[in-house]
Amino acid sequence: MAFQPALATRPCHNSLMEAREEPATRAVHPAVLVIEDDGVIRKAVARHLEESLAADVRSCADLEAGLRAPSPDVIVLDLGLPDADGLEALVRLRHAMPSALILVATAHGTLADRVEGLRQGADDYVVKPFSLLELEARVQALLRRRLPAVAPEPAELLWDEGARHVLRQGEPLPLTPLEYLVFSALASRPGQALSRPELLRLVIGPNFYGYERLIDVHVGHLRHKLCASDAFRYIATVRGYGYRWDGPELRQEGSGRAR
Ligand code: CA
Repeated sequence: MAFQPALATRPCHNSLMEAREEPATRAVHPAVLVIEDDGVIRKAVARHLEESLAADVRSCADLEAGLRAPSPDVIVLDLGLPDADGLEALVRLRHAMPSALILVATAHGTLADRVEGLRQGADDYVVKPFSLLELEARVQALLRRRLPAVAPEPAELLWDEGARHVLRQGEPLPLTPLEYLVFSALASRPGQALSRPELLRLVIGPNFYGYERLIDVHVGHLRHKLCASDAFRYIATVRGYGYRWDGPELRQEGSGRAR
């Protein structure tokens, strides 16, 4: 790996906080956040991803700065940071940015390390020292999971409640049972904001005692399965509260249909 000299990528300033809370999906310029305290590696990775993937790259040297950045499509995360060591950074980012894909880049490369990282919310793993080409290929593979090759038309959704299916352009979406329940709770109450506790009560039941933000992970996955480019139109984030269905009104009996 030949590290390149510094290139001015955008640092993570507080002023960026006013940007989107969740990532807008762009097929042309994917948003990548690089959190790495080694300046040589950070700049080399940022520069390489900008040049090879035309990515819109922000880079930070510590976790707190990363947490203040807008949620990107992909995060390249070093686990050995000055303000968060080991899996703490991964766990905090996963909770703060549930819909971002996280590629962990670390010197801790044992099988147990990788398995634990994946269990804690990493989407992929690359072990230092890594080749920039391998890193690029892994970021690209993650992006393929969420970016459409071309901007799609607004999705035609059908809701077949009897079969517990949601179909997009005639194809059933591969929703998990929990994602289906989240969809059902939201889509059956169009325009109505539901708090996180309310949603959890509707989805899991009255006896749920756990981490409220769990719902964010399922909503993040559901948004992307519904239609990546229309994610915000369908499920809106109500800041500090919960979520609201802003998509088409779908009839529940037999099949609902809307564009
Ligand atoms: Ca480090």
